[in-house]
Amino acid sequence: MKIICIGRNYIDHAKELNNPIPEKPVLFLKPDTALLKKGAPFFLPEHSNNVHHEAELVIRINRLGKHIEERFAHKYYEEIGLGIDFTARDVQKSCKEKGLPWEIAKAFDGSAPLGKFIAIKDLGKVDNINFELKKNGSTVQFGNSSEMIFNFNQIISYVSKIFTLKIGDLIYTGTPAGVGPVVKGDKIQGFINGIEVLKCKVL
Ligand code: ZN
Repeated sequence: MKIICIGRNYIDHAKELNNPIPEKPVLFLKPDTALLKKGAPFFLPEHSNNVHHEAELVIRINRLGKHIEERFAHKYYEEIGLGIDFTARDVQKSCKEKGLPWEIAKAFDGSAPLGKFIAIKDLGKVDNINFELKKNGSTVQFGNSSEMIFNFNQIISYVSKIFTLKIGDLIYTGTPAGVGPVVKGDKIQGFINGIEVLKCKVL
C-alpha cells in the first residue's frame, strides 16, 4: 500500500503559501507508517516546532491500474474519505530553500491520519463534496471538491502514468486554504458533507 499526495491543488491554498498555480499535479509520497487510523492520537514529531494541519479528501483505489484514461478513472474508486496531511512547515520551508526532497517534512510517523470512508453513491456528485476541519470546536478549514485544480479523475489518470495503482492505495487530493499549526492538546475533527468522519487528538 502506498500513500500518494497531491500538493497545491486548491488555488487559495497555493496563494496562502505564495506558491505558483501548478500546470501538472504536484506529487509526493508517504510510507505506510505515516498512516493513523481509527482515531489514534497524533504525536508531534521532535524534529519540528511548527506542524500544520492540511485537511484533504482521500480516494482509495479499488483495482489495479496503470495508464488509466481520464474517462475510465471513475471506475477505480467507489468511496471518499477525509485525511490530514500533517506537515512540518518549518522543515518544509528549509527543504524548499535548499532544493531538497520533502519527506522529512511530510512523511514522518503519524503524518497521515485517515478517517472513515463514505460510498460515492451516498455522497451524490463527486464534484460537489463539502469538507471541513475543526480545531478545538472551531472551523479552521472548509473546502469543496469543485475547487480542486485537478479533479479526482484527472489525478488518477496522471498518477497512474507514473505509479502503478494497486488496491488499497490512497490518494490525498490536496488541501484548501486555512492550514495552520497544531499544538499538544488540540482536538481535531473532520467532516464530509457535515458528517463527522475523523477524530484525532494531538499529543
Ligand atoms: Zn497536503
